[in-house]
Amino acid sequence: MRRVTVVGGGLAGCETALQLSARGIEVELIEMRPEKNTPAHRSPNLAELVCSNSLKSENIQTASGLLKAELGLLGCFLLKMADGARVPAGHALAVDRDLFGSIVSSAIDGDPRITLARREQTDLALPGCAVIATGPLTSEALSASIREHLGDEHLYFYDAISISLATESIDTGRMFRASRYGKGNADYWNIPLTRQQYTGLLEFLKSSAKAEKHGFEDGMCFDACLPVDVLAGRGDDTLRFGPLKPRGLDDPLTGREPYAVIQLRQENASGSMTGMVGFQTRMTYASQKQMLKLIPGLENAEIVRFGSIHRNTFIDSPRLLDEGQMSLRRKGLFFAGQITGVEGYVESIAHGLIAARNIVDFMDGGTYRIFPPETILGGLQRHLSGGASPFQPMNANFGILPPVGGERALRKNRKAERSLDALKIFLDRRD
Ligand SMILES: Cc1cc2nc3c(=O)[nH]c(=O)nc-3n(C[C@H](O)[C@H](O)[C@H](O)COP(=O)(O)OP(=O)(O)OC[C@H]3O[C@@H](n4cnc5c(N)ncnc54)[C@H](O)[C@@H]3O)c2cc1C
Repeated sequence: MRRVTVVGGGLAGCETALQLSARGIEVELIEMRPEKNTPAHRSPNLAELVCSNSLKSENIQTASGLLKAELGLLGCFLLKMADGARVPAGHALAVDRDLFGSIVSSAIDGDPRITLARREQTDLALPGCAVIATGPLTSEALSASIREHLGDEHLYFYDAISISLATESIDTGRMFRASRYGKGNADYWNIPLTRQQYTGLLEFLKSSAKAEKHGFEDGMCFDACLPVDVLAGRGDDTLRFGPLKPRGLDDPLTGREPYAVIQLRQENASGSMTGMVGFQTRMTYASQKQMLKLIPGLENAEIVRFGSIHRNTFIDSPRLLDEGQMSLRRKGLFFAGQITGVEGYVESIAHGLIAARNIVDFMDGGTYRIFPPETILGGLQRHLSGGASPFQPMNANFGILPPVGGERALRKNRKAERSLDALKIFLDRRD
């Protein structure tokens, strides 16, 4: 009988365990709660949602809705269980958190092929095939063991995500292309700001609404990537001497350095996503959208990934794991869920499902079945294996899909249809 150890009974770990069991594989699932808690979990339930009770939109014209539709085609267990714990929330799939956790816990308890062990796993001494799905709040002892296995510099403990925009929504007419002091290729779009524009932005950053912090994230400030709104509060010129520095960036229109400069950089291989350099932020999503209205050329830009700063344990997956998120240093040691660099509840569930498929492919001695690039699942897989350095986590968004042409208002719909068609063809051929 085939056996796999899954560490972490969260969203990813439970989906992996149920998918493996459905394929006839015996699973030992190790969960440290309630014996030992994380700073955010509150109950002994498996698959506890630590914050919001929303799994976001079900509308396939949103990336999260499309991901759900893809997961529906693949027989995702946790999404079906979420449906059973649903509370009214318009287009969103919101759940009664306790009911959802108890449905998942009962399914695991009642599964004859899954054995649940309630204890902390403190190291990677796991025989045979194993999956680490211990999430953003992996216990300290296990984090230390992972760090030792992968190397100090390859396990991160927070993410500071800068705002990403849909490239096609940016008006580059008022920007210039250059790299600082003309060194290397002119890879950046530069947005020159006048003193007045800079001051307007500064005041907005200082007064804008900020997202709520969790108690254990207090004081979590990292000098290398301080939030742009924190820098704004440190003095009127701090940003101009920091991420908005104009040095070496002469505006071709005036032949002079502007008062300040915002830089934009390509974020993915296809060029569909563009990042705002240094714009990691704790501002609320609404404030981030409002802020763009103050920046020349970004007034109508669409945010594909909002800026954020979180406590998060994640691996430099593109450099340390193979295409199936198996350690390059130890055959049979897989990682699943948020610790691999996906971000979000549904994304973690999705990666739990992906991990089970990868393990089966590995055990069968075959190659991994990577989903088509047109699907959100395939886009996330490609990010985990090909994301640029420094690696940053990724949620479901349309920017990770290849562009489609045509009228802007219809593009999301076309991407959604294209994804589901591609997935159906893929499943007919491969599964
Ligand atoms: C505070 C916070 C709030 C978040 N809010 C949201 C949100 O509102 N919406 C959203 O989409 N995403 C949110 N996320 C991001 C993310 O989607 C969730 O954290 C998600 O639960 C990750 O799924 P996972 O399965 O990878 O990890 P988890 O669901 O956290 O599961 C990991 C499990 O492993 C267990 N574990 C840890 N270490 C060990 C060990 N050594 N031995 C045994 N068991 C162990 C934990 O107890 C836990 O049950 C939030 C993250 C954090 C940290």
